Amino acid sequence: MPIKIEARIKEIIRRNYNVKSFRLELPAEPDFKAGQFLELELKGDARLKKYLSISSSPTEKCYLEVTKKLTSSDFSKALDNLKAGDQVIIQYPFGNFVLDEPSSKVAFLSGGIGITPIRSICKYAVDKNLGTNIVLVYSNRSVRDIVFKDDFDAMQKSYPFLKIAHVLCETEPGFKCTVGLINSGVIRNEIPDYLQRKFYLCGPPQMVEAMRNILSGELGVSGEKIVTENFQGY
Ligand SMILES: Cc1cc2nc3c(=O)[nH]c(=O)nc-3n(C[C@H](O)[C@H](O)[C@H](O)COP(=O)(O)OP(=O)(O)OC[C@H]3O[C@@H](n4cnc5c(N)ncnc54)[C@H](O)[C@@H]3O)c2cc1C
Repeated sequence: MPIKIEARIKEIIRRNYNVKSFRLELPAEPDFKAGQFLELELKGDARLKKYLSISSSPTEKCYLEVTKKLTSSDFSKALDNLKAGDQVIIQYPFGNFVLDEPSSKVAFLSGGIGITPIRSICKYAVDKNLGTNIVLVYSNRSVRDIVFKDDFDAMQKSYPFLKIAHVLCETEPGFKCTVGLINSGVIRNEIPDYLQRKFYLCGPPQMVEAMRNILSGELGVSGEKIVTENFQGY
């Protein structure tokens, strides 16, 4: 059952040139499943409300983190002006973009800021040592657009069942990636056992739709093995 509470900005972390994380301190320990989202209302203006995935894991018990791509909207500007100590209002948890069988094989396909709930799920699997075999195919325009790169590098080192394949629109000297977009060839190449996996797709609606069409159309993945989260608004 979702609850509505006031939270205090504990810390703000710049992730890249246009993405920031906001760590929120709650009156009690956060209670949610990895991959769920919340509604964030900026205090003092009930019109400034957005849904944001929770990018922290339930194992990170001292805060709830959301991570926003900052645009020129009124909400983004007001969020960007927040400082540690400011109050916001949240309603949470919502959503079904969650792991249902922790020990099975899964694959995540994501682009840009669509990585936020996936960071939560991967961090949870690593911290709990779930044994879930995970392949993440993460696409971005360039290396500077990758969000949580250091986090994912660290997770890959400590958890042997996590493979990350980067896909970029442009080459980057010394950086291992596929150049182009995620397509059926990239999925076959990076996830040869794709028919044994449950797929989780997250990003802007157009990207999610394109990925779903590739999986169910070209690759024959059945609909019940595809879970989606659409970031309406991009
Ligand atoms: C379940 C769910 C989870 C989500 N999780 C996340 C998440 O983890 N992180 C995240 O970043 N987003 C997430 N989103 C998307 C988020 O809710 C917003 O829709 C999105 O971030 C865009 O919000 P915005 O206020 O920045 O831009 P919007 O107000 O939606 O505007 C869209 C575009 O119009 C432009 N624009 C708007 N107003 C102006 C203006 N006055 N002048 C000039 N240009 C303008 C903006 O630059 C922007 O590019 C999620 C959405 C859903 C449904």
